[in-house]
Amino acid sequence: MIDLKELKCMKQQHLYGGFFRFLPRVKEFLLDTVYPECAVCRACGRLSKGGILCPDCRSRLQADGMAFAWDTEDLEPDLPAWFLRPHTGVARLLVIRLKHQAEKCIAEELADLILPVPGHISFPPDTVVTWVPMPESRKRERCIDHGEILARSAAGRLNLPCRPLLVRLETREKTQATLNMAQREANLAHAFRPRESIDFPVLLVDDVLTTGTTARRCAEALREGGARRIFFLAFTRAMKGALKDGNI
Ligand SMILES: [Zn+2]
Repeated sequence: MIDLKELKCMKQQHLYGGFFRFLPRVKEFLLDTVYPECAVCRACGRLSKGGILCPDCRSRLQADGMAFAWDTEDLEPDLPAWFLRPHTGVARLLVIRLKHQAEKCIAEELADLILPVPGHISFPPDTVVTWVPMPESRKRERCIDHGEILARSAAGRLNLPCRPLLVRLETREKTQATLNMAQREANLAHAFRPRESIDFPVLLVDDVLTTGTTARRCAEALREGGARRIFFLAFTRAMKGALKDGNI
């Protein structure tokens, strides 16, 4: 369901020029209002039975890529990383909708994928969950920081505290999705700094893992703040070719 706060956000998106993004949300709002018991499925657009996904899309999300769930990705030697689904199908659609259309309810659906955490993975009890901060200008445009919403949902599932630990410098404003690997590295060099002294382990959460540049840059800043153990969790992992195809 779309609440009034989201509707206000949609209106602001419209004022900021996201007219074509605004229209489908209006249609969904009207359908959700007319059929309060049958919300619209955020993946396939058909009427669902009250949830944000229809039963078909929900079972596809649960089943898609289960073999890949929680596989480790070696971003760098001291940065253990996991992802929950490949960046395809229903998971990809949900990430895109959360990212570009600011639908908060999607974060909860994605966060459900975290559990159960496989037995060989555990975070120290004093771990703090944080996220990759969004540039302020983009946050104003989108009304929400989808990274924060995902991190808070993930922290809730893992029973860990969550708070902002990084600041993003406003000088680095280019959208990473439009850049190649070398450009990403340059765009994000020194783009983050720690907000506080960090003497506890950190779980950094992000929506999609592509080249890993953002995760590495954030890890650098967290280490600069004092963090000795950093973990990285992405909800989806873009496979080779997705970046080149602009498929993020
Ligand atoms: Zn569906």
